[in-house]
Amino acid sequence: MPQPLPPVSVLGLGMMGSALAAALLKAGHPVTVWNRSAAKTGPLVAQGATPAETVTDAVAASPLVIVCFTTNDNVTDALATVDLTGRTLVNLTNGTPAQARALATRAEKQGAAYVDGGIMAVPQMIATPAAYILYSGDEQAYETHRPTLAALGGTQWVGTDPGRAALYDLALLTGMYGMFTGVIQAYALIRTEEIPATRFSELLVPWVGAMLGAAPALAEAVDSGQHLTDVSSLAVNHAAFPNLLNTFAEQGISGELFEPFQHLLDRAIAAGHHNDGASRLVELLKK
Ligand code: NDP
Repeated sequence: MPQPLPPVSVLGLGMMGSALAAALLKAGHPVTVWNRSAAKTGPLVAQGATPAETVTDAVAASPLVIVCFTTNDNVTDALATVDLTGRTLVNLTNGTPAQARALATRAEKQGAAYVDGGIMAVPQMIATPAAYILYSGDEQAYETHRPTLAALGGTQWVGTDPGRAALYDLALLTGMYGMFTGVIQAYALIRTEEIPATRFSELLVPWVGAMLGAAPALAEAVDSGQHLTDVSSLAVNHAAFPNLLNTFAEQGISGELFEPFQHLLDRAIAAGHHNDGASRLVELLKK
């Protein structure tokens, strides 16, 4: 006889929480669900989940409680007076490292082991090989529940500091937003001459992909502090970058997304870093 799989409670059935609960049901776990607006439990109950009337009931139903609300303030408020004794709280709500650390302290005072997580996927990717979740916090609790968490996607442990998963998550999202910032500006520019963005994307996608190939060498320079480059100096970038800003202005689009980068290049040149590569800019961002 196969062993029954451990029960799990999922709090928050938005787009992401619903995908998480559905994945756990599909993997064969008994799943208890709670959502602030009770109507959202319907589709999951149809898939076999048990609805809980209150957060307290949902927490009491399973040793592993996964929470996925809009913000960590929502998590703090919803769990403020709930007895978490003996529970592992896995918080997959997006937030800051400081919020994760504060939540860990609160949850531990309320009797729980706390694991924070950063979901590197959209809901449609959950439980596919493309999805993974970053975890940090209570390592023993993580190891205990890792087989269950694996139903959601890849599991990536990043350390015992509960804030570490959020730090990795936000750093990865920083890379993503940087990429989208460039893509949005490029489309805005190309559309000033009625060129279809769809046609232009055929050039943009491989170009951005090829440029991303420079990231590992940049990382080596950042780690070693060896910023001198024989590829592309800050001086040459500083000379060329005004062409972007001037063209945005001439073509009638805003340069607001890119002006801060000009200021950073100006600062690098003023400080004498002409011959260094872009890795030097990482140093200049330190406050
Ligand atoms: P949704 O807007 O679809 O769902 C938000 C959920 O939070 C709902 O269940 C909502 O309840 C609940 N909620 C909001 N405020 C409160 C509150 N005060 N008390 C209790 N519950 C509350 O968002 P997602 O599901 O898309 O996102 C949830 C989390 O997952 C966010 O932190 C998001 O950043 C993160 N995430 C989302 C991704 C995505 O692609 N969607 C990707 C990676 C991470 P109600 O239904 O009653 O409003």
